[in-house]
Amino acid sequence: MIFLINLFLTGKHSLIINFKLRIMNLFCYYEKPKVSILILILLSFSSFSQQVSFDKYFVNKSMRVDYSHVGNSKNEAIYLKEIRQEKFWGGSHINLIDTFMYGNFMVKIYDKAANKLIYSRGSDNLFKEWQTTPEAKEISKSFYEVATFPYPKEKIIFNIDRRDRKGGYFNLFSLEIDPNDVSINKEKACNYNTFEILKNGDSKNKVDIAFIFDGYTKDEIDKLHKDAKRFADYLFSYPPFTENKDKFNIWGVEVISNESGTDMPTQNIWKNTAINSSFNTFYSERYLTTSDIKSLRDAASLVPYDQIYLLVNSSKYGGGGIYNFWSITSVDDEASKYVFLHEFGHGFGGLADEYVDSGLSDEFYPKGVEPWEPNITNLVNFDKKWKNMIDKNTPQPTPATIEYAKTIGLFEGAGYMAKGFYRPYRKCEMQTLMVGYCPVCKRSIQQMINFYTK
Ligand SMILES: [Zn+2]
Repeated sequence: MIFLINLFLTGKHSLIINFKLRIMNLFCYYEKPKVSILILILLSFSSFSQQVSFDKYFVNKSMRVDYSHVGNSKNEAIYLKEIRQEKFWGGSHINLIDTFMYGNFMVKIYDKAANKLIYSRGSDNLFKEWQTTPEAKEISKSFYEVATFPYPKEKIIFNIDRRDRKGGYFNLFSLEIDPNDVSINKEKACNYNTFEILKNGDSKNKVDIAFIFDGYTKDEIDKLHKDAKRFADYLFSYPPFTENKDKFNIWGVEVISNESGTDMPTQNIWKNTAINSSFNTFYSERYLTTSDIKSLRDAASLVPYDQIYLLVNSSKYGGGGIYNFWSITSVDDEASKYVFLHEFGHGFGGLADEYVDSGLSDEFYPKGVEPWEPNITNLVNFDKKWKNMIDKNTPQPTPATIEYAKTIGLFEGAGYMAKGFYRPYRKCEMQTLMVGYCPVCKRSIQQMINFYTK
């Protein structure tokens, strides 16, 4: 129980305290999209049928666009900081177009001459969470963000689209980029040592995780390496990662900090660390994050990667996970193993929290819109979720009794809501720690693994 209570305070949606503000925000700042939903659907649909040749449009390294995501609870904008060239592209050469449509943001790359979508990827970010806090009602703030994609051969249009409250997208930012522009920064971002934790093959056919470390001093290098091995072993002790171990590479970046530990503001503990991680994010005690995305991505640029996991040298319980943004956990709490798995469910799998918080209203997700996460539903479009995995003899809704403990069903209570939202299984790692992922979450993770390894 204690883990479950704690869990409410970590994870991607730890800001649920100010729920009413969040809902108000959703209603007021997404009035701007005027683009026809039909056109967007047609554009998206046509993009799926397009085959994109990696070699025709890209070279095997990365372009990285750094930008400020600025605004408040009602408005937001993107401002360019710089464009960089990075040595590695860790992603697939086949699956360039996003087929999941998860997250509230979608980076889209168009070849300018052909006006053809050649890359897209969904994600979420810390700015979007901050928008729901009381502070965002009072002031505007700037968050550092980064988008990476394979390095284009010719001029591109770089777009960031934003999901609106009806489930569609509108364009938030658009920029023409000439890959031959001499101002594109080609310097090596930093000089940490790197090491292999698990190597199974070419990065283009594997899920590559970059383990980045915060709060380890030069005297703690041995601990850093032991922790790297320990958490890699944790990952593969859980299905579906166990049976997919040969589809992963894990790289370590030996990030050395000046001081050991991490910031714990409520205890007035402040540590000078390389990635600037901190507890008490948005005044949520156990929400361990970093907003220093530049330092994080600079470190990650030294290895090929699809996902970033930040391991923080602390024995305090906490973590966070945001889809295709980062996953973070402290390493020395007794529950760190389970937090590690839970947060990776968010960061890699795009999974929602399956637990209930009775303090929340029924309107956490916009009414009449199916949540984008694959493991919860409000029955608006249940057909595209796990409906086909439920046996015809299983009652729906499914009673959360011991009789149905091993049954895929429709269990009421998910996505923080007690009513009207459903989870697939009585218990799951995305609901409570130490139980493993439910079959639906496993399927979703498997689909994501398959996408990266084509
Ligand atoms: Zn689940």
